[in-house]
Amino acid sequence: VTTIGIIGGGQLGRMLAMAAARLNFRIVILEPQADCPAAQVANEQIVAAYDDPAALAELATSCDIITYEFENVPVAAAETLASKVPVYPPPKALEAAQDRLIEKRFINGCGIPTAGFHSVDSQADLEAALKDFGGRGVLKTRRLGYDGKGQRVFRSAADTAAGAFAALGGVPLILESFVSFEREISIIAARATDGTIACYDPAENVHRDGILHTSTVPASISAETAAAAREAAEKILAALGYVGVIGIEFFVLADGSLIANEMAPRVHNSGHWTEAACVISQFEQHIRAVAGLPLGNTGRQSDCVMQNLIGDDILELRDWLRRPDTLVHLYGKTESRPGRKMGHVTILTANLPVSP
Ligand code: ATP
Ligand code: MG
Ligand code: MG
Repeated sequence: VTTIGIIGGGQLGRMLAMAAARLNFRIVILEPQADCPAAQVANEQIVAAYDDPAALAELATSCDIITYEFENVPVAAAETLASKVPVYPPPKALEAAQDRLIEKRFINGCGIPTAGFHSVDSQADLEAALKDFGGRGVLKTRRLGYDGKGQRVFRSAADTAAGAFAALGGVPLILESFVSFEREISIIAARATDGTIACYDPAENVHRDGILHTSTVPASISAETAAAAREAAEKILAALGYVGVIGIEFFVLADGSLIANEMAPRVHNSGHWTEAACVISQFEQHIRAVAGLPLGNTGRQSDCVMQNLIGDDILELRDWLRRPDTLVHLYGKTESRPGRKMGHVTILTANLPVSP
């Protein structure tokens, strides 16, 4: 039996473990939190910090392949593991995705445009950077931000910058130019060990309170824009010598051109719809890729909308279950809190539902 180690025990690890089980893989999770979503379906959990030397040694010994479900795996830990056992996606992808400054330089280096940006290491840097962008921009922590956390938007030169550097924790920041986009899309792509690349159709994403709310497929974009997203994904995957699934977010401008926002070297929330509308989900695709198996068909059987169940959205569970066109997926989290992702639904219809 081939054993796959997954670093991180959240819902993405859980869904990877479920897909892996169907292909006869054994799954070991490394996650400090006991009874995490992934541990409920994995064969084994090592309960330890992601950089615990003894735990990493145990993971390397007990697994044939190691992957991860979040991009903040310490790069040194991934490299230690990679010296003993294949780690996919390659640690290089973690380095490129963990820090927004390095990420933007990397993406630009692939010939793909991003928002303009300035590195901000002080309040004085921030004021100079804002001046350069005419007083508008999005200030973000370089590391560890997600669901819109660690960000501050400057909409006009009238927005005061006073104290903003300290308010975001006094850590290294980046100021991005403000992109007046028409819509947001993402593409889920995979690269196999033999270099084969397969992409799913781009999804159109709508956020609510900084958190992904819906992903709709097909996105309202031209065939040219969809092709540009695929080409960008191909460049990024090739440049990283990537193996596995990646999610790349873009802003779509009024003329249909794309600005890359960020990338996640893992399965992605905006790809959850693939489990309902495609024969091979992004989760199985990732497992196939890291295990050296042929990639699966990314063809889509249906239009669809994926909607996250966040916090008390879970109270509408029975209503979702009554819908004949809807696949419900829960993450095994017993306690609902505001902003916490409890599960998601995928509605196999072209119409945008906003309630169950
Ligand atoms: P995620 O949960 O997707 O990882 P995140 O916290 O890493 O999100 P971003 O994706 O960088 O944050 O930004 C969150 C949202 O804020 C974007 O989806 C977009 O709607 C808006 N946004 C981010 N950067 C910009 C920008 N430069 N110009 C305009 N809007 C932006
Ligand atoms: Mg992000
Ligand atoms: Mg994002």
